[in-house]
Amino acid sequence: MFESLSEKFEKIFRKLRGRGILTESDLKAALKEVKFALLEADVHYKVAKEFIKGIEERALGKEVLRSLTPAQQVMKIVHEEMTRILGGDSPATLDLSGPRPMALMLVGLQGSGKTTTAAKLALHLRRRGRRPYLVPVDPYRPAAAEQLRRLAASIEVDCYLPQEGEASQEIVQNAKALAQKAGFDVMIFDTAGRLHIDEGLMRELVEIKEMLHPREVLLVADAMTGQDAVNLAKGFNDSLGITGVILTKMEGDARAGAALSILQVTGRPIKFIGTGERLEALEVFHPSRIASRILGMGDLMTLIERAEAAYREEEEVKAPRYEEFTLEDFRKHLRYLRKMGSLEELLKMIPGLGRLRGAVSLSLSEREIIHMEAIINSMTKDERRRPSIINGSRRRRIARGSGTSVQEVNRLLRQYEMTKKLLRQLQRGGRRGLLGLLPSA
Ligand code: GDP
Ligand code: MG
Repeated sequence: MFESLSEKFEKIFRKLRGRGILTESDLKAALKEVKFALLEADVHYKVAKEFIKGIEERALGKEVLRSLTPAQQVMKIVHEEMTRILGGDSPATLDLSGPRPMALMLVGLQGSGKTTTAAKLALHLRRRGRRPYLVPVDPYRPAAAEQLRRLAASIEVDCYLPQEGEASQEIVQNAKALAQKAGFDVMIFDTAGRLHIDEGLMRELVEIKEMLHPREVLLVADAMTGQDAVNLAKGFNDSLGITGVILTKMEGDARAGAALSILQVTGRPIKFIGTGERLEALEVFHPSRIASRILGMGDLMTLIERAEAAYREEEEVKAPRYEEFTLEDFRKHLRYLRKMGSLEELLKMIPGLGRLRGAVSLSLSEREIIHMEAIINSMTKDERRRPSIINGSRRRRIARGSGTSVQEVNRLLRQYEMTKKLLRQLQRGGRRGLLGLLPSA
């Protein structure tokens, strides 16, 4: 899903992260690339423009660029803005309130996946303890009713069987009466589609809607049609009034344009996505998770949150002046690295980097960090505070005490000296002190 767009985002973000310090023009250049990527993915022009504007305002307005982690902050803002245009923090759920049986009405063009989606929804609702009833309202094509009946049978859901020549109005009334008697609580109406929006179809759908008083009118649209799906949603909303959209065929490299534009253009949220022909292939639309996928972030948000939490604690500790940097401070930094999780695990959270695993030699593994801590723990307070007193016999004692070797003790002391040197450079170089000690994720 969204592979080509997320690849572009990954590239843009990688470049940003590689920069370290970000200037206003770095940011603007990156956002320009973001805008191109969006337009290429068929995102509505106005939506792309507003999206960029929103990010720019937030990123330039606050202390983002001067923060310790500017690229991460920018990514976080991009993710939040994208979540917002996709519908906000929580998914738009179905409105199933009111007297039973309530009606859901599916509308859309022919071939968009209405009938399949009707059955998928029935399965989804039944798994959540509802008693769904499927109703085909397509008086012109008996085959349509037959298709729904077959799908319904395959998931053991009841389905209304229209008589030959039964008009829409009769179907609706008879099905309602039957559902009431049988104690079904949600009726899912699968309506007829056409190849294009036309007045005849709309008139018919408006009539059915007035008879049904459905809780939801859901437009089923093919995501692969990109911008056309957005125009379709707008057309259906203007002439019929819809409560939400279900985008089908999202499992391929669907152009993300439709998903990103629908809410902004129509004011109606996406409620579900179809991700395959199987009846299980229906997902509740979670804006923030979809944003993560589009941005190629995988579970990067978790990573950023973790880093932020670790930072907050670290700041309380305060970086010592390099002259006073002792082995005790070094141990704190090791603990901080461990809190971030092992480097291997960090890499796994970044989808684009996942394939690099094994190819990169990781400088410090979790095990090494544990050994290093053990070595420091075997020292006396005096040794930790004044490492210069650690001579040959002390090194042998420390190695024995920590179950390591003298070589390992030597290496740790070298790493400590290097870190101290690094700290000196960083502190002379300004405020970005601790950043150099982080794994560059
Ligand atoms: P309708 O004319 O709107 O009722 O569309 P159908 O439900 O008959 O579906 C048309 C075709 O699209 C069928 O071959 C379905 O299997 C297929 N289809 C429906 N939803 C999806 C989906 O989410 N992914 C894929 N790949 N195919 C789908
Ligand atoms: Mg159909």
